[in-house]
Amino acid sequence: MQLLERFRTEVEERRAQHLLRTLQVSSSAPGPTITIAGRELINLSSNNYLGLATHPALAAGSARAVELAGSGAGASRLLTGTHSLHEAVERQLADFLGEEAALLFSSGYAANVGIIPALAGRGDRIFSDALNHASIIDGCRLSRAEVTIYPHGDTVALEHLVQGCPPSRGGARLIVSESLFSMDGDAAPVTALSELARRHDTLLLLDEAHALGAIGRGGRGLADLRGVSRPCLRLGTLGKAFGSAGAFLAGPACVIAYLTNTCRSFVYSTAVPAAILGAVAAALPLVEAAAAARQRLQARAAHLREGLRRLGFSAPAEGWHIVPVLAGEAERALAWSAALAEAGVLALPIRPPTVPDGTARLRLAPSAAHSAAQIDQVLEAFARLAQAAGGGSQPSSCGAEAATSTSRCSA
Ligand SMILES: *Cc1c(COP(=O)(O)O)cnc(C)c1O
Repeated sequence: MQLLERFRTEVEERRAQHLLRTLQVSSSAPGPTITIAGRELINLSSNNYLGLATHPALAAGSARAVELAGSGAGASRLLTGTHSLHEAVERQLADFLGEEAALLFSSGYAANVGIIPALAGRGDRIFSDALNHASIIDGCRLSRAEVTIYPHGDTVALEHLVQGCPPSRGGARLIVSESLFSMDGDAAPVTALSELARRHDTLLLLDEAHALGAIGRGGRGLADLRGVSRPCLRLGTLGKAFGSAGAFLAGPACVIAYLTNTCRSFVYSTAVPAAILGAVAAALPLVEAAAAARQRLQARAAHLREGLRRLGFSAPAEGWHIVPVLAGEAERALAWSAALAEAGVLALPIRPPTVPDGTARLRLAPSAAHSAAQIDQVLEAFARLAQAAGGGSQPSSCGAEAATSTSRCSA
């Protein structure tokens, strides 16, 4: 069949370009180490930042909730899928962020592809950071709003664009950004973004997927840490630092009530199951109390950055807990990853289209559960890699052309 042939060809083309993805199947829980193909590797490719994904309190919370409410919600939230557990967890999450209300989603992906089109549609305009996550890009595309991509983190350019691209016929405007960027690990200028949004009567949506739980006071994320003013809609995911699954949006009650009615990925999808609600309820107090773990997380990341730079790798001099190591070409990222796996370290390559062409990388994400000795082992593996590559052969400028801007007013 012609169509099947096309899929076969496509897969082979990807393989030839070193872009083919395959599943890494583990036979262990996702801890600081992970067992793949019978080998235990130090795991630097997960977002389990606080180590909560294997915490017994979450498993126990899950088990209790399943006992109480069953394994499946049985229906969407607007039909019979809303249990008092949903209401309780949404209240807890809203209180955690000091917002009026919160709404749960089955994933961060589902949240973004539903929320963005619900907030902005035909005749409205969305301003989206050039390095935003795929789920934000897809949400923008689904919205039918006019979308302007602004250069990464550049609030001066953004302000020009906002001024130069007035909404047509009185439509509304929305600015969307990650707070801590998932593939580069850098922080968005959230304070400047919120001031800009306020000046131009524009709503700001911050995706705190990698910040919530991992940074800030009580793990409240970057917007809270920087004192960003309201209204600011914050998306949190529950599968990363929170060690479970799902996502939520927190904000003014009117927005939550509106989304409850209009957000298609909320309305037309079966409610989040009890197992997740139980785990999230158990995780929340642990996250709030995890100040020492958050400090350890940043210490492990700093340890990695310093060691990598000493070895001549292209890692940022400072930053948060996501450490990108630029390789440049996909083939090189793949080779590095394979050599590290040989040395007992799991650091999966991140390749286009996840990141811009020519910026393939290893994305190292330590966890508070890693010991300093494990980070030393990781650095030893990188040292061997540097030696094998003939020393000092790492590109240190390949991040420079990292895709910015199509800074036009375009649909
Ligand atoms: C991981 C991630 C998501 C998706 O969240 P899931 O719960 O994994 O679907 C959304 N936005 C950003 C920035 C992310 O990093």
